[in-house]
Amino acid sequence: MSALIELFLCRTDNFGVLVHDTDTGRTAAIDAPEVEAIEAALTRRGWRLTDILVTHHHEDHVAGIESLKASYGCRVVAAKADAHRIPAVDETVEEGGSVSVGTLTAGIIDTPGHTVGHISYHFPEQKLLFAADTLFSLGCGRLFEGTPAQMWTSLLKLRALPDDTALYCGHEYTLSNARFAVTVDPTNEDLAKRAKEVEAQRAEHEFTLPVLLGAEKRENPFLRADAPAVAKAVGLEGADAATVFAELRERKNNF
Ligand SMILES: [Zn+2]
Repeated sequence: MSALIELFLCRTDNFGVLVHDTDTGRTAAIDAPEVEAIEAALTRRGWRLTDILVTHHHEDHVAGIESLKASYGCRVVAAKADAHRIPAVDETVEEGGSVSVGTLTAGIIDTPGHTVGHISYHFPEQKLLFAADTLFSLGCGRLFEGTPAQMWTSLLKLRALPDDTALYCGHEYTLSNARFAVTVDPTNEDLAKRAKEVEAQRAEHEFTLPVLLGAEKRENPFLRADAPAVAKAVGLEGADAATVFAELRERKNNF
């Protein structure tokens, strides 16, 4: 029941990630941004791809599915709501359901906002969360299809998971997120410290992920839209959290 993780860059700033079940050898890719990078990661670890767990339909998350399925015969799992616009889906899942990769089991969390069919995969036993383009470290996804209220509700579901959960995201966006975050949560000392660490990590070309969800709860302004300090910083003292969240997202779009 233990997992090994391989995290690597794909395309320009997409993360690829493999989740390997040490008991059965089954190996899942979370999304399929790029065939070559995924195959190189499989070769590096000596793993064989058995599953692709898709989070949402965007091209930079599904581009490699058909080619990988042709090479490995792997199973493709995706949200029922999005199956019509994701290639080669074998199995659909919904909120409250689960999917197993050998002895590892992920719960499905519906996280609309970035797209309406976006799902996140949570492995409670292994304390792993794959949130793709819903929750980024110190940021969140753009609202291409959903409303701010929808995204805020999605983020609250992820915020409810245990602090010692390791968060994996769809992109290495943490540096630009950190530079924005300090402008809307200027009195947050944990955030200020983290922003410095992120600057140093990226200067060395190190990945900023995974990160513990507990740290994100303290430092990510998009998870703190209901914190009085954040509301005050954006001039919305006393406003409801979804309104503050919408303002944060709008400011980030224009940052
Ligand atoms: Zn996306």
